[in-house]
Amino acid sequence: MFRRWWFVTWLSERAPAQPGGGGRPHCGADREPRRAGRGQRELVLREWEVLRERLARIAADRVTAAGELFRAAELTLAADESAAHRAYRQALEAYEAAGRLLDQSAADPHTDLPDLAAAVVLAEQAVEHLAAAHALHAGVRPEPAAVRCFYNPLHGPASPAEPARGTGKRRQRPTRTAREAAADRRPACPACRRAIIAGQTPDVLPALLPARATDRRTGPLLVPYFTVPQQWSPWSATACGAYDPDTPSLVLRGAHRRHPPH
Ligand SMILES: [Zn+2]
Repeated sequence: MFRRWWFVTWLSERAPAQPGGGGRPHCGADREPRRAGRGQRELVLREWEVLRERLARIAADRVTAAGELFRAAELTLAADESAAHRAYRQALEAYEAAGRLLDQSAADPHTDLPDLAAAVVLAEQAVEHLAAAHALHAGVRPEPAAVRCFYNPLHGPASPAEPARGTGKRRQRPTRTAREAAADRRPACPACRRAIIAGQTPDVLPALLPARATDRRTGPLLVPYFTVPQQWSPWSATACGAYDPDTPSLVLRGAHRRHPPH
């Protein structure tokens, strides 16, 4: 959903002291780099606020749409419809967890983009589970759940990995390139997959790394959300909750609340 994350490239060209980048900021009597550093910080925070505001609106829309669907598509289940009951319960939990994340984002100014992305993911999963409950009640096999793009779970569904050609020894696919192998390593939407195969950076979901969380405190920085250490973010390993069916319960018991040091 986001345009190319152009400002990160812009920053990396001007800031040699990225975490792990091995660079060292200018210091001492020269005042020009200090002004540039302050400008970069302001630019990062401004971009983050714009993205956060936009994503908060999208998350609110998704949660509202899911709520309206619950109200419009009433479901009365018999006691022995255990699979449909389970799907309906999963739908309600995902919906409640999405609303919880949205409320917290309004109350906590440190709520980051991946928290809001998780609210979007959970609201959409609530709708998927609700559709599954209805399908099971009608005696129809539910649609398989969508596998979301790892690089940005707000993108369209991941395209399936390139299937092996032929059988037996031909499964080795000696013509497969290293970039194709890299593109198949994680679920990726068609656009991210094309970018990886072309040797470009996919359009990843950013997260904010505050100054105190960066090497030499040179931040804040916007980084790919999946590079944030797990002790600071529950979202980096699960594509904002998309790959972990326990995410609603994690959110509802408050165990998702971790942040980098501010
Ligand atoms: Zn993608």
